[in-house]
Amino acid sequence: MERKIDELLDSKGVTVAYRYPTPRALTWSCEGYANPDVFDPIDQKALVEAQAVCAGCDVRSDCFALSLSRDEWGVWGGVLIKGGKPIEKVKKRGRPKRTTAA
Ligand code: SF4
Repeated sequence: MERKIDELLDSKGVTVAYRYPTPRALTWSCEGYANPDVFDPIDQKALVEAQAVCAGCDVRSDCFALSLSRDEWGVWGGVLIKGGKPIEKVKKRGRPKRTTAA
């Protein structure tokens, strides 16, 4: 018996689709993707790679909606999310550069 999409999306299936096996009733493009780190991109190049995977995904809009409802981070539905909100660019990690006192 096929499960409904809402039931599947209530599971952790989509959240970690690229890492764990997922139900067969839906197909998400990131499942088993060889370079899953791009979904937590460290630079714009990684973001573009993740977005290319999402572009052909069957559950793209549901994935994006789920990310907003869960205050997620990373790439969801082809959109970069931080704290449940879309952001434009990958922010550099680490400490900000020191500035010298004038
Ligand atoms: S839209 Fe992207 S992150 Fe979401 S399930 Fe599809 S491929 Fe994975």
